[in-house]
Amino acid sequence: GAPHVVVVGGGYGGATTAKYLRMWSAGGIEVTLIERAARFISCPMSNLVLAGLRNIDELTADYERLRTRWGVRIVLDEVSHVDVSRRELRLARNGAIGFDRVVLAPGVDFLAEEVTGLAGNFERIPHAWKAGPQTELLRRQIEAMPEGGVFALHVPKSPYRCPPGPYERACLVAQYLRARKPRAKLLLLDANSEIQSKKALFAASFAGPYKDIIEYRPDSTLLSVDARTLSAELEFDRIRADVLNIVPPMRAGRLADALGIPLTNGRWIDVDWRTMEVRGLPGIHAIGDAVLAAPGMPKSGHIANQQAKLAAAAIMELLAGRTPNPVPTLLNTCYSFVDDRNAIHVATVHRYDATQGTVLPVAGAGGLSSAASEEEGRYAEAWARNIRADMLA
Ligand code: FAD
Repeated sequence: GAPHVVVVGGGYGGATTAKYLRMWSAGGIEVTLIERAARFISCPMSNLVLAGLRNIDELTADYERLRTRWGVRIVLDEVSHVDVSRRELRLARNGAIGFDRVVLAPGVDFLAEEVTGLAGNFERIPHAWKAGPQTELLRRQIEAMPEGGVFALHVPKSPYRCPPGPYERACLVAQYLRARKPRAKLLLLDANSEIQSKKALFAASFAGPYKDIIEYRPDSTLLSVDARTLSAELEFDRIRADVLNIVPPMRAGRLADALGIPLTNGRWIDVDWRTMEVRGLPGIHAIGDAVLAAPGMPKSGHIANQQAKLAAAAIMELLAGRTPNPVPTLLNTCYSFVDDRNAIHVATVHRYDATQGTVLPVAGAGGLSSAASEEEGRYAEAWARNIRADMLA
């Protein structure tokens, strides 16, 4: 019969793979998508929810079109184990399911235990780094802030999901505070020694419109938090906040542990960039934030979408007994809002380099905004609409 590919995780990476395998094979490949959540909620644009500019419902979608238009079989369940040699997945509720090839796209999980006092306290100290109830909780906390209050946001050491995300969040929350919470402050505590993306552009916002609100403190290594007093102990500092938003250190989604191979730095899945197959495990592919990023490559929804297409194209070739494209090329565009209307972007191109055996940024390709603009704000909205249609419609 037709080959069967199972995709685990219906986020930016997995949903795109499932759709493109069905579309490109014109139905010749059977595709099952296994996702534990009944609905997709987008992290991109979720910082706008924190500023009261969007509603979480606008970021929410279901998987119906993948089923009805593209013929993807949708299974709402959690994968608990991957049996590599028997080519079988075990599900929490629905038994086992076999595959010819599998694509794992589980995203990230958090390492709360790396910050003393954080584990078990995400209700008091929300991360809002997976969109959903956490986003709404953090929004309510921001709304309840007193005048003259302090919002503290901690950025973990790179690599983490969405390098510009924390700085975009700082700008959008600062704009809300300026309008609604007189004399409030935003402490941006960064474990890294500098802004991790679009540095000069974000720095211009921090020093310009948000000069009196945002205080940026690099090299802020976080040691512990106290959920009762909402205080944080840093290597050289101690702060107290009215809202404490810690973006926790992160790793590949825990499903990666089921592969029975060591993760790079104990955190990320290493892949062969020509096929997105896990190194040492032919037939087992991995994409998205869970993957050890190539040099200069961000963990973004756009890159997850590109890796999804790379994996789908390679699977088509491998199933047909052909050699996949030996020089895959990916691109990334990340928009960030600096206020309710104006946005900035960075774009990069990444191509396979056979001598180094990895994907490298292409010199001279890509680009960066010269300044924030309303025009780019409109592009950012269009980007979000288009990529969602590309994956789910
Ligand atoms: P996800 O989209 O997280 O999908 C993983 C899915 O796998 C989830 O649905 C999860 O439920 C499911 N899953 C996990 N384990 C299992 C299991 N065992 N069984 C079944 N299902 C499972 N990126 C951009 O490109 N542009 C942006 O503007 C942007 N803004 C962002 C803003 C914020 C605040 C944040 C937090 C992120 C932003 N990102 C942005 C990054 C983007 O959200 C991620 O890079 C992207 O979601 C990664 O896709 P993924 O498929 O790897 O993971």
